[in-house]
Amino acid sequence: MGLLAPGRSATPASRVLECVRSGGTVAREEIVRRTGLSAATVARAVSTLVAAGMLRYRPDHSGVRTPGRPSTPVEIDDRRFGVIGLHLGWRATTVSFADLTGKVIASWVHEVPAADLDLARVGEWVVELLSTQPGRQPLAVGVVAPWRDAPWTETAVSDALRELLGLDLASADHVAAMAAAEFLDHRQGSTPGVTAYLYARDTAGVVLVEETDDRVELSRLTSLVHYPTGESAPCACGRTGCLIATVGDHAVAARAVADGIVPEPRIEQVLSAAEAGDPAARRLLGERARILGRIAADVRDMVDPDRLVLVGQAFTGYPTALSDTVAELRSRTLLGDIDISVTRFGSAIQAIASCTVALGPVYRSPLELVPKRPAVASA
Ligand SMILES: [Zn+2]
Repeated sequence: MGLLAPGRSATPASRVLECVRSGGTVAREEIVRRTGLSAATVARAVSTLVAAGMLRYRPDHSGVRTPGRPSTPVEIDDRRFGVIGLHLGWRATTVSFADLTGKVIASWVHEVPAADLDLARVGEWVVELLSTQPGRQPLAVGVVAPWRDAPWTETAVSDALRELLGLDLASADHVAAMAAAEFLDHRQGSTPGVTAYLYARDTAGVVLVEETDDRVELSRLTSLVHYPTGESAPCACGRTGCLIATVGDHAVAARAVADGIVPEPRIEQVLSAAEAGDPAARRLLGERARILGRIAADVRDMVDPDRLVLVGQAFTGYPTALSDTVAELRSRTLLGDIDISVTRFGSAIQAIASCTVALGPVYRSPLELVPKRPAVASA
């Protein structure tokens, strides 16, 4: 699965780069052991990637104990190149820049409803963001959106942005992208099994990542936008009680306006009111947290994963109520106890997910994307 790791058919450069990405600072001997490539192939790929500015030597990290004559360890070079991440959401577009390790260096949120999205404007935002990163060069773009529910099509938007930005571009469904970002963050020491990632904000969905000893598969992406919660809020689709019309950020903010808690339908205002101690705001967010717990329990019982990860601002925006969500989930599930965790990315998840997708083309064919004569970062 390209979103998670290059396959066995990938080029040596790609496999070496991916190995260093997951290993941190590693010696050549370790890369040979982990990739199964020959020592000569690894040595060649490492020196090419160092010359290209994608890896760098870390002689100060020679603590790696390898029998014989250990080589100088290498790590991902985070200085020269990077990627652009674009998250096109229902209410906002997030434009981000990450280095080759996937660390987000800069991220701007532009509040524009999806229906009014202007791609030329997105191009300007990218240029503006890049102007704050002198000496750094983007190699690819990742564009992430709730494509199934969005008012535009994936291929049309991708083609237009590729043309506009003149860079290699990868696109992915946003829930799948968030699952990939979460997975890559946690894979050190992970055990085989199925992890379900449940996302909720102004859309909702679930993705499963299945790990065996020798492969990782991302599968069964299901939209939960219109999942019936049993509540009574009317949905744009004509039914009542759909997930997004009940617990989506915008739905909750609209409820708060109707109840006289806040003046505008903005979730930030509801969160601030709750944090300031407003009992009505707290009640509203507490109720949402319990409904989310019920939905999470349904998901858990339907797919029976080994681990469940809760992602998105509907879960993370009001940490005070998270324990209500988890308590509701644990009390309702028909099955035994499982490992439940909450994303540690919080509100940065959109930036991290889109940059993770952007790194796909870079790690797949690193040497093809680097300019032949790299623009050397100069003061
Ligand atoms: Zn609906």
